[in-house]
Amino acid sequence: MRPHRAYVPAIEDELWIEGREARHLVRVLRARPGDRLTLFDGRGEEARARVVAVEGERVRVQIEERRPVRREPDAEVTLYLGLLKGEKLGEVIRMGTELGVSRFVLLVTRHAVAKMVRPAKIERLRRIAVEAAKQSGRTALPEVAGPIALAEVLPVEQGLVADPRAGARVAEVLDPERPVALAVGPEGGFAEEELGFLAERGFTPVTLGRRILRAETAACTLVALVTAAHGQ
Ligand code: SAH
Repeated sequence: MRPHRAYVPAIEDELWIEGREARHLVRVLRARPGDRLTLFDGRGEEARARVVAVEGERVRVQIEERRPVRREPDAEVTLYLGLLKGEKLGEVIRMGTELGVSRFVLLVTRHAVAKMVRPAKIERLRRIAVEAAKQSGRTALPEVAGPIALAEVLPVEQGLVADPRAGARVAEVLDPERPVALAVGPEGGFAEEELGFLAERGFTPVTLGRRILRAETAACTLVALVTAAHGQ
């Protein structure tokens, strides 16, 4: 079996793993001295490590080998996402993280059914991103930012906005060599002037097919089309 992957804020030659990660190692995986782990710091470094001590709910590990790894797309993908109800934001963040998104920015838009996100929910979304990053072998942790008002979106170098009425397909307009910002509306879609504003900011409207997709389906489809074009 692949060794368990544990997230640590910084990889040092010998370190204590504490908090949530350590509890999981001790209670669920019953870590013992001698066990092997893979550590990742969310910033592009991984290390093979060995457990040297378990004290209460803390686990001490020693690094055996460090290795810089590349499992990130070549060009950064930012996803601007309208607020969604219930568990849907979490679903998009889990799948988007697996697919290689480096930054999620939650957007407050006119037709959103959900109008705000509590700080505790943002924290939960960040934990979902950490879990998905671990599970999919990512080496960089995606950022979960916002919510911001749509008017706060800054001009982008390259942008695509998912719009059911658009004519262009992703493959026709995407330059996979450059960083890209994506925008997907909430359940109620973007208002006309919001689409106009995004166009001014550098977002090109793209279609995801003839059917109306749920926002969470649209978000994952758009991200997949982009990261698959990166070929990574
Ligand atoms: N009632 C809305 C639909 C919203 S669907 C409307 O008619 O506009 C939620 C979001 O998913 C949309 O804002 C859009 O960003 C995206 N989306 C859904 N289906 C799509 C499609 N076929 N092509 C492009 N984007 C789509």
